[in-house]
Amino acid sequence: MSLRIGVDLGGTKIEALAIDARGREIFRKRIPTPRGDYAATIAAVASLVKEIGPGTVGVGIPGALSQVTGLVKNANSTWLIGKPLKDDLEKAVGREVRLENDANCFALSEATDGAGKGARVVFGVILGTGVGGGIVADGKVVTGANAIAGEWGHNPLPAPTAADLPHPDCYCGRKGCIEAYLSGPGLSRDHEARTGQRLSPEAIVSLADESFERYAERLARSLAGVMNVLDPDVIVLGGGMSNVARLYTEVPRLWTRQVFSDHVATRLAPPVHGDSSGVRGAAWLWEES
Ligand SMILES: [Zn+2]
Repeated sequence: MSLRIGVDLGGTKIEALAIDARGREIFRKRIPTPRGDYAATIAAVASLVKEIGPGTVGVGIPGALSQVTGLVKNANSTWLIGKPLKDDLEKAVGREVRLENDANCFALSEATDGAGKGARVVFGVILGTGVGGGIVADGKVVTGANAIAGEWGHNPLPAPTAADLPHPDCYCGRKGCIEAYLSGPGLSRDHEARTGQRLSPEAIVSLADESFERYAERLARSLAGVMNVLDPDVIVLGGGMSNVARLYTEVPRLWTRQVFSDHVATRLAPPVHGDSSGVRGAAWLWEES
């Protein structure tokens, strides 16, 4: 019986796990990412795979493979950008490798045996240092014609009010992106602009003041925009902000005013696998065929 090997290639750590034919985890290891060093990054992934042995290999990466060139794009681990990562990993591990965006892997993990199990359409959302997302329909990742399906974080915040101005700058070059409001750093920036106090996202959440209310309302508004297009059965939150329990009651209460439907059946759910969903989803990339 062959193993499914998953690798989560993150900006600060590389995690590998192996799942056996019965879905049990039999290996897990985490090593620091050789930041800025492409050849060492390839070698680090290959050493983890070789340590596990035979099996299918799926890798979750920040960013995506360009459907045009096959090279990495949109990665905040900038030393991967423009590299033929799939080809180089396949050479290094001596077998076919399936690569997917890390948010897509998160969504696939939660759709396969997590909070979205049994649902037809799952939208997985990352609310962390950045804001990303992935779509799984009928158990399969929707990659998209441009490999950007689910990337709602760089849409503009919908229906901005005076309280949302001035539009904050986003690293992508646009202004007023959803990520600039709903990432952890975005929450800190917003709180500082309102109060003059620089606090961590965790500290702001524990204050439970107007900054949190603004955050929840902006999240509801932003998710409603996705719901009107995709109409998912389940939205699963991931990333650091997914630990905030009140979001799961506040946001569905707030989004009913925004969604174009008299009744909203979509569930907002915390992740079952938490931080492990990226690496588990990478392993499940080989469930699909
Ligand atoms: Zn942006």
